[in-house]
Amino acid sequence: MPTVFSGIQPSGIIHIGNYIGAIKNWVKIQNDYPSIFSIVDLHAMTLRYDPSSMENVIFNTATALLACGVDPEKCSLFVQSAVHEHTELTWILTTVTPYGDLTRMTQFKDKSEQNSDNINAGLFTYPILMAADILIYKADIIPVGEDQLQHLELTREVARRFNSTFSPIFSEPKGMLTETPKILGLDGKYKMSKSLNNYISLEETEQTLWEKLRGAKTDEARIKRTDPGNPDVCNIYTLHKNFSGEEEVKEINTECRKAGIGCVDCKKKLMKNLLTLTSPIREKIEFFRSKPEKVYEILEQGAQNCKKIASQTMKEVKSVIGLKRF
Ligand code: ADP
Repeated sequence: MPTVFSGIQPSGIIHIGNYIGAIKNWVKIQNDYPSIFSIVDLHAMTLRYDPSSMENVIFNTATALLACGVDPEKCSLFVQSAVHEHTELTWILTTVTPYGDLTRMTQFKDKSEQNSDNINAGLFTYPILMAADILIYKADIIPVGEDQLQHLELTREVARRFNSTFSPIFSEPKGMLTETPKILGLDGKYKMSKSLNNYISLEETEQTLWEKLRGAKTDEARIKRTDPGNPDVCNIYTLHKNFSGEEEVKEINTECRKAGIGCVDCKKKLMKNLLTLTSPIREKIEFFRSKPEKVYEILEQGAQNCKKIASQTMKEVKSVIGLKRF
């Protein structure tokens, strides 16, 4: 039976890019396969953060995931740093990861540009920690957004190198994409991302959502209300395709092309449909936030389940790298 693994960085916020690009698949796939979902706090350390709020941020991320439908009866949800085998395996994998491959990672290049005052080695070796996250569970299916495919390819290369250097104990994991594996941010240009602050979170109120949508980029060639628009290049239309019903999407497409609907009305329709999805999620988030003991218990149980598998893999790894006795 294949195993599923996926992770999300703690930021306390889950945006609609995370949801449409990855978490929607987590919620589906947990019904079919043994699934492991992690709040990857150690990855988040590669960017500057406030240690005094980290625990709170992790807690809020956990409540948001549970509210989205991640179900502890069907999967293991845990915090990465609670299972130290991830970091132990990372070092070992570092010794079989080609330096040249790491230098080609576009996320490293992007994050280095965005954080030029903090280009730490962790930012560079980040994909090896991700490889360890996956290989420690010998996971086969990895539901992610498109931005993670390059890291996943590197994970496969690392598995191959380990297998050929020592012993073939790892299989090569495969990515699993949703129908929309890349959601653009409000700028209509860059990937929606917490670090770029161009996101719509699952917790927006009607007011904050409208503030964000009002300024969101549409078809830039459509200057006046009476100009016909081109939905194919409009990010608001892409969002409609994910959050609105089929009939409404068709109608918007037709109306936009003949200037029958303006961008403001189109955004208002989107807002209504987004709130239909997010309002029950917000309510569930409130519910879980009022039950911290329950949430911590879920994370603890998840970590215990994962530790069993991870320690077994580490035993096997130590045995084939020549460190069985220690
Ligand atoms: P962020 O990029 O906002 O920091 P994470 O790196 O924690 O988010 O990503 C968590 C999951 O969400 C990953 O599987 C990632 O591929 C997916 N994801 C993130 N941003 C997007 C996006 N804009 N569109 C689609 N999927 C995304």
